Parts: sequence; C-alpha cells; structure tokens
Amino acid sequence: MLLATRNAQKLVELRRILASSDLSGVQVLGLDDVPPFPENPETAATFEGNALAKARDAAAATGLATVADDSGLEVDALNGMPGVLSARWAGRHGDDAANLQLVLDQLADVPEDRRGAAFICAAALVVPRGVDTSRTETVVRGQWRGTLARAVRGRNGFGYDPIFVPDGDRRTSAELEPAEKDAISHRGRALRALLPALRELLTSASPRS
Ligand code: IMP
Repeated sequence: MLLATRNAQKLVELRRILASSDLSGVQVLGLDDVPPFPENPETAATFEGNALAKARDAAAATGLATVADDSGLEVDALNGMPGVLSARWAGRHGDDAANLQLVLDQLADVPEDRRGAAFICAAALVVPRGVDTSRTETVVRGQWRGTLARAVRGRNGFGYDPIFVPDGDRRTSAELEPAEKDAISHRGRALRALLPALRELLTSASPRS
C-alpha cells in the first residue's frame, strides 16, 4: 500500500504501527517510491476533505490502496484556527518557527485557563478502482488535547510541538520521546483507527475480474 507523503517520519510511524499489529506483512511505500504524478494543493475546508482528496488522487494515479493524512492545530482562543491553515499560518508554507511565534504572540494576553488547544489528524484510506471490496473509502479522525505554553521547550518533533503541553503531562510534545509521542498523538490515534478498515481490505479484497 501507499502512504501519500514524502515525510520520512510519517512513513516510519505507519510502518511501526503496522509492525506491532497483525498486519505486519504489509509493505508501505511513500510518494518517493512511486512514479511522480500531478499533486493538487490542499484547498479543502476540513482536515477530512484534504486527506480524502490526497488519497483519491494518489490511489487513482498509482493503482495502490492509499492512506493519506492531514493535520493541524486548533486553538480554542482563536476559534479553532489555525486549523487547516496550520502549515502556512504566518504566510509561508512550512515555516514552522514563524507559525509557532505568531500563535505565541496572538495568545500573549490570553490567561492560563483559556490556553486550550488540540492537534487534529484526519486519515483516509482509498481503495483503487478494480479492487472488489465492500468499502472503497474510509476517513477517521484522531484528536490530542492540551494547552499552549508561553515559551518554546524541547528539541524533538516539529511544527507546534515546542509549545504544546498534552493533557496529563507537564512536558511539551517536543520534550517527549518520538515513540512516546506516537503512542498518544493525534496521528497515532488516527492511523490506529484505520487498522480495522485495512484489515478488512486485506482479508476481503480480490481483483475484480
Ligand atoms: P501536515 O498534515 O503534515 O501538512 O501538517 C500540517 C501542519 O500542522 C504542520 O506544518 C504543523 O505546523 C502542524 N502539525 C501537524 N501535526 C503536528 C505535530 O504532531 N506536531 C506539531 N505540529 C503539527
């Protein structure tokens, strides 16, 4: 199957989740392992819409069962923003330091009891045409709640990890070990929620004759 990403960390994470399940024989390829195809920008209004669009495009182009994800940070005091705009919140796609600093500045006067936030991840599984299975599209969501610190802490992770303090912990998610984060994060939860659909696909699907 394909994971529609070029992010090596996401590939490692999905492979690790599959390896510790009864689906350990499944081989996961990334976008760098398949011939290139035109990739559309993420323009949907929801995480689910973006994940599904990415998975549909990749499954149609490659003929492989495809998982895609879309994720971001929803800040309570910003009415759920940056949400699907998390990667470009400060104006330039993928500028993690600027995105994080902008959120810190926006929340400068927000008191402790209103600094709640959640990481959200939608994950979609799309089965390509020609495979006979009862369900061709599955979309799930994982959520990880916490609060936002006033200054960065920790060197692991990426994005908003250095200011996100998960509920039940005092460390930021950039201070967690990678495997520790995978076990409780929004992405880990979403990918694990896809396992039943993947299992069903592997046990029931057959090429359509
Ligand atoms: P994408 O789903 O990989 O495109 O991620 C979108 C954006 O959401 C990233 O650029 C980060 O800013 C933010 N984000 C998503 N997941 C995480 C996470 O686990 N830690 C920190 N930031 C994240």
